[in-house]
Amino acid sequence: MKIIMLGAPGAGKGTQAKMIAEKYSIPHISTGDIFRANIKNGTELGKEAKTYMDQGKLVPDELTVKILLDRVAADDCKNGYVLDGFPRTIPQAEVLENELNKLGDKIDYAIDVNVPDENIIKRMSGRRACLSCGATYHIEHIPPKKEGVCDKCGSELVLRDDDKPETVKKRLDVYHAQTQPLIEFYTERNILKTVDGTQDMKDVFAAITAILD
Ligand code: ADP
Ligand code: AMP
Repeated sequence: MKIIMLGAPGAGKGTQAKMIAEKYSIPHISTGDIFRANIKNGTELGKEAKTYMDQGKLVPDELTVKILLDRVAADDCKNGYVLDGFPRTIPQAEVLENELNKLGDKIDYAIDVNVPDENIIKRMSGRRACLSCGATYHIEHIPPKKEGVCDKCGSELVLRDDDKPETVKKRLDVYHAQTQPLIEFYTERNILKTVDGTQDMKDVFAAITAILD
């Protein structure tokens, strides 16, 4: 099963994608996590991506597409995957579609986790991320057992640089201008499914599994 998670930054794509990956035993692929791992390891790719991410802008398509296509070509992706944060532009969606077409393959579902902008800024300022294992928490809604410490790997939790309110505002503008058109793109392909992302995370997940099962 090949799934795309759509939605504004902070809508809960990553939270749901991790649960989908576990339930259906498919890899969770987040381009944001791949960039953050590169930043942490000080790679050239990380240095380049950081200049865009810190400004709330998208990393250029050429760079992002290459990373994603390399990742989905790996062995563990044979039975499918859940993409979180990719595609974010129409050209990215077209490249993915063309590459899958060549293999006689396609995306099965594009799930739009719908959350109004008013809720987003609040969510993002409460998000805490583990840069070691990629786990995410929310200080009010989904707190770690011990404040500031990742339940899964014990590393320190941080407020991402790009989750500060001024950058979130810019990211929302970029989302509406460049990513939201994908809703139309996948509606035309008859694979768009919308879920109400303002519900409790368990209810959002129940709505998603009702679609996938
Ligand atoms: P995205 O991957 O779309 O950017 P995340 O999954 O990281 O979003 O979620 C953004 C923030 O909102 C995180 O702090 C997360 O813990 C929290 N969150 C996710 N889903 C819900 C939910 N259904 N209700 C409340 N908070 C949520
Ligand atoms: P995320 O972790 O999905 O919120 O992504 C964090 C940041 O990484 C985004 O604001 C972008 O700067 C960059 N990024 C992640 N995925 C993509 C993508 N598919 N295209 C362009 N930039 C991306």
